[in-house]
Amino acid sequence: MEGSNPIKQHYHTVIIGAGPAGLACALTLLEHGVEDVLVAEKYAFPRDKCCAGYITRKTDREYKRLGLDPADCGYTLIKDFRLYFKLKCRQRIDNRFLLTSREINRVALDDAFYRLAKARGVRIAENMPITGHDPETKTVVIGKTHTIGYDNLVFADGTLGFGSISQNTRRRNLAMQLIFPSDRPDGIEIHFGITKRGYCWVSSFKGVTNVGITDEYRETANYRDVFAAFLKDLGMQPNMSSLYSAFTPIGVRKPVIGDHIYYVGDAMGACDPFTLSGVRNGLVSGEKAAQAIAAGNPGILKRYARSLGVKFFFTRGIMKLFYVRWIRRLVFDVGCRFLSGAVTFFFNRFLNKK
Ligand SMILES: Cc1cc2nc3c(=O)[nH]c(=O)nc-3n(C[C@H](O)[C@H](O)[C@H](O)COP(=O)(O)OP(=O)(O)OC[C@H]3O[C@@H](n4cnc5c(N)ncnc54)[C@H](O)[C@@H]3O)c2cc1C
Repeated sequence: MEGSNPIKQHYHTVIIGAGPAGLACALTLLEHGVEDVLVAEKYAFPRDKCCAGYITRKTDREYKRLGLDPADCGYTLIKDFRLYFKLKCRQRIDNRFLLTSREINRVALDDAFYRLAKARGVRIAENMPITGHDPETKTVVIGKTHTIGYDNLVFADGTLGFGSISQNTRRRNLAMQLIFPSDRPDGIEIHFGITKRGYCWVSSFKGVTNVGITDEYRETANYRDVFAAFLKDLGMQPNMSSLYSAFTPIGVRKPVIGDHIYYVGDAMGACDPFTLSGVRNGLVSGEKAAQAIAAGNPGILKRYARSLGVKFFFTRGIMKLFYVRWIRRLVFDVGCRFLSGAVTFFFNRFLNKK
């Protein structure tokens, strides 16, 4: 059962996952007059989400377009943004692009988006993980017992969700984060030189600190130890029992299989491989999938995926260069010292587009 509404046996569109991508898809379908939609979500809201929850001004605009103002969830700019290399502060930037919430996670934002979707009439079945899928009969099993037919199926279930069975998920980024109370002053620190092909963050806001590390995932690395060593270097020793980790994709995957199975958000690989920012691409890919479904034209999502693929191709190029040791030295030892204006401009302009 889904509230007082029993789950039907067939829907025009079934969406798996009620994150930003799945709900943006459902809301946009409604805008296009497609109401016979079910969103099946594994957990009940408000649900935990391993995410630092930063959004850029562009993401903020995207939420507003969909009817949600992140400011209502306490989102605001933190001015003090610092770049570190090998634990040494190299530059302070007057942040103009990155907004964060009081809790420095995404729980409140996702919950507000869920409530907005519910209020608009989106049917969301909570505590209903997908457990089976038969593309031949166009049916999915959600929960333990519900077999549901669909005309269109949208996988919005993240990097390693059920939909990833038919995707290439070999290469992926790992991100870990720990949130704890602290008396550090408000500010965002981005640290390079701690992990091999990733960055770390230390963000504090009104008595809460979020420490995170990212890296291109290697099975041989012991990331818990890397995390603990980073905390120690920072002079912090919080309880690590609530250390969360999750994967984000590297590279765009197949956006459509056949003409009725769609992939959006992290399930499609719509997460920037360098910055790991994926909320905005999740929202936009959800919207594009809805437009494709409403118009009966999968090409709409395929074109978006192609353009994202090209963008990520260049991002990965920048990333490859950036992680060359002497180039990083050049950026931090020379760039940050003598061309700090250009570095600030690059950060505020380039990252604002994410
Ligand atoms: C530590 C960390 C920090 C990050 N920080 C940022 C950041 O600051 N800013 C940013 O833009 N991005 C950030 N990201 C990336 C961002 O979290 C993702 O790109 C974004 O969540 C993708 O949205 P989505 O809707 O595709 O997937 P998700 O938000 O992962 O939503 C997927 C939904 O599907 C549900 N689900 C999964 N499996 C099933 C199933 N079998 N059946 C039913 N439902 C299912 C899940 O419960 C979830 O609700 C971060 C990621 C990590 C790991």
